[in-house]
Amino acid sequence: MAQDVDPERAEVQGLAREAAECRRCDLYRAATQVVFGQGPADAALFLVGEQPGDQEDKAGRPFVGPAGRILDQALAEAGLDRGRLYVTNAVKHFKHEMRGKRRMHQRPNQGEIEACRWWLNREIAVVQPAVIVALGATAARSLMGRPVVLLREEGRPLTWADGRPGVATYHPSAILRARDDAARTRTFAALVAALTQAREMAGDFLRATSKARMG
Ligand code: SF4
Repeated sequence: MAQDVDPERAEVQGLAREAAECRRCDLYRAATQVVFGQGPADAALFLVGEQPGDQEDKAGRPFVGPAGRILDQALAEAGLDRGRLYVTNAVKHFKHEMRGKRRMHQRPNQGEIEACRWWLNREIAVVQPAVIVALGATAARSLMGRPVVLLREEGRPLTWADGRPGVATYHPSAILRARDDAARTRTFAALVAALTQAREMAGDFLRATSKARMG
């Protein structure tokens, strides 16, 4: 019996296998495994986070830890189904330092972001999303090819370095780190607003990819 072949999906899976052998920077050394993007290979909406966290590193999947749960809540409030989005990170290996037995997150540096942009660009080239959302300054920097002042650009429509439209907003972990309830509520509302805006920007494309999957 003939099998359905989805060339883009196969291409993303091939990229993930290649990335598992990546030595473009040193971050693979201390990480458990590569954490590549996940989602439909024809997704209209493409979300980029910073890097995998402790739980993502163990599971091998992006946004499955506490920040992932916040992201799921924000997506639900924005009327978005995570199953229809492609979700990835600017950097694919978990950067951390040991404090006692705990693995504490460390922000990737410029060289690591640039080394791993090679993979991000390849994911974007296969998925060809209509709209890209940067979750946090690291993702925005990678997509823009230069530093982005998140406080100034947050929630505003942007054009990324490759000419694609998008929006930059807070990483869900910023909500976990908020200093009090008021800051938490404000940051979560900004994340939901940015995701809602991205949904509206991708509107017709989201409907088209949804129909194609149902057809
Ligand atoms: S972080 Fe990115 S560039 Fe560095 S080794 Fe991992 S996959 Fe390669």
